[in-house]
Amino acid sequence: MSMIIISSLEELWAARATLKGPVGLVPTMGYLHAGHISLARRAKAECQSVIATIFVNPTQFGPNEDLSRYPRSLERDLQLLEAAGVDLVWTPTAQELYPPDFQTWVNVEQITQPLEGAMRPGHFRGVTTIVSKLFNATRPEKAYFGQKDAQQVAVISQMTRDMNHPIEIIVCPTMREDDGLAMSSRNSYLSAEERQAATVLYCALLTATRAFEGGETNAEKLRQVVREVISSEPRAQLQYVSCADYATLAELQTVDHKALLSLAVFIGKTRLIDNFVLG
Ligand code: AMP
Repeated sequence: MSMIIISSLEELWAARATLKGPVGLVPTMGYLHAGHISLARRAKAECQSVIATIFVNPTQFGPNEDLSRYPRSLERDLQLLEAAGVDLVWTPTAQELYPPDFQTWVNVEQITQPLEGAMRPGHFRGVTTIVSKLFNATRPEKAYFGQKDAQQVAVISQMTRDMNHPIEIIVCPTMREDDGLAMSSRNSYLSAEERQAATVLYCALLTATRAFEGGETNAEKLRQVVREVISSEPRAQLQYVSCADYATLAELQTVDHKALLSLAVFIGKTRLIDNFVLG
């Protein structure tokens, strides 16, 4: 069976009814790379049918963010998804998902406050609202997300529990380039020099993780290792580094249980995030 490509909600509902379960959902904003494809392949291995969505969700972008210049490559994306065995691609329109009288939002209150939530006000309200709409429209048994966006995974897991969505959230490992840079659609913004400089994120996380594995459990010392490595790269500007409880994302003093070491860095004008799990 060849891949079904659908834009309207009504067509989606009709096509969804023909899919054999369990259904796996892979939400994306397109401009796909091997990270996205790893989610689709995992979904194909675990589910009878796979739905991928491509939608650059306007409500998760801040007023000064990159919504209008977010990269797009629909034809290529569709080829990659078909090769990964995806059964149905839904490419909704903002007009249909956010009509002029739209006024209902899903808001996760606490775990959205620190880190990305603090730097990008309103971002997670946009994410949880769109993911909840995608869940309602596609009714998957499982939904696949990348560890690359660690706080997003925590927020969506919280929302899924709180709203009683009968959906299992599957977290997939971060796919990286050969030099360690986490794959991201936003890497396409980087000039050649910036692309080289961007390896400093991975380098900083690796150096701090080695310190942790060598016995350093003082969270502030681990953050300091990250700051020092990032400051060694003149094109990099650290926005935040966090060493936090994996479940609550509260900053730690001592890493004595599972923790998330995460950071956001500007390379020139491009903002990149990455993380490692400790313990
Ligand atoms: P995006 O298109 O950036 O919204 O990402 C769609 C999904 O792919 C999200 O669940 C991301 O966490 C995931 N993702 C993005 N980059 C990677 C990566 N390098 N490795 C694994 N998953 C990723």
